[in-house]
Amino acid sequence: MLALLLIGPGFLLSVPTFAASDTIALVVHGGAGTIRKSDMTPETEAEYRAKLKEGLIKGYLILKAGGSSLDAVEATVRIFEDSPLFNAGKGAVFSAQGRNELDASIMEGSTLMAGAVAGVTTIKNPVIAARAVMEQTRHVLLVGEGAEVFAASVGLEIVEPSYFFTQKRWDSLQRVQELEKSARRQNSSDRLIDAGYVLGTVGALALDKEGNLAAATSTGGLTNKRFGRVGDSPIIGAGTYANETCAVSATGEGEYFIRFTVARDICARAEYLNTTVGEAAKEVIHRVLPRKEGGTGGVITLDSQGNVAMPFNTAGMYRGYVLSDGRPVVAIYGDQ
Ligand code: ASP
Repeated sequence: MLALLLIGPGFLLSVPTFAASDTIALVVHGGAGTIRKSDMTPETEAEYRAKLKEGLIKGYLILKAGGSSLDAVEATVRIFEDSPLFNAGKGAVFSAQGRNELDASIMEGSTLMAGAVAGVTTIKNPVIAARAVMEQTRHVLLVGEGAEVFAASVGLEIVEPSYFFTQKRWDSLQRVQELEKSARRQNSSDRLIDAGYVLGTVGALALDKEGNLAAATSTGGLTNKRFGRVGDSPIIGAGTYANETCAVSATGEGEYFIRFTVARDICARAEYLNTTVGEAAKEVIHRVLPRKEGGTGGVITLDSQGNVAMPFNTAGMYRGYVLSDGRPVVAIYGDQ
């Protein structure tokens, strides 16, 4: 499609109307929860900040070079999946049976194409498998063994389940199971979410030079989850969503994010209520979700103009963004 531009008397110059814009943006999260400065050593905090920056720069360089938002979110999430710091890939939490069951999804805004895997135990990078489901099958979501057989058949890296073992996550499982036992003994109905469930899901959103948005989310789910439990992260519309004007990745207690269809609700509110994506996100995180006890967590959002929002209703959320200027910004607690 060409537009005609008048540049002085008698001169007509045609320019493409789909000219690439200079606006690029990448937004990430590494999970929301009871993250307090007082509980963190300076070294651990520095490690998280450095890894968030590494992921941001990885995706930014792809976007800067003219790469797609889909490539950027996949590459960024992959960096987090390969790190033991986050509850995704290598650092995934353990289920009640002592297994690591991983979920991930990816979505391209311009085409509404999406792919996801759930409950996988041997795929090294679930986000790559999610993209393969999107691009190489006519389905959106593959689970368990079917997803693993498919991933192997398209040449993805398969690992022994023991690859996902980390002492830190194992110790968390023991702690949560102990708490659960004592809560049962006391016949207490206390919810255990703050006591020890590790939140640390990762997500990335990107806006590329063509103006296309993409979103990806990856997780090990909740510590001590039941065998076969699937959270919101691989559910399109709950933990992940992207369309032409809005991209969302969520983190928090997945059951609530599924019930409230959080990611899609934010984009739909922005569209139907003629509000900004950021305002819609704040409304859902601070007003809609807290209507139910347990609706804790946060989201990152990005719109097609490059506007970023990162609201959460927990003590902290690992998060960050980088815009066209290439300067990554990361934050962990309420204010920094
Ligand atoms: N939303 C994830 C789940 O419920 C957990 C998280 O975000 O930490 O599986």
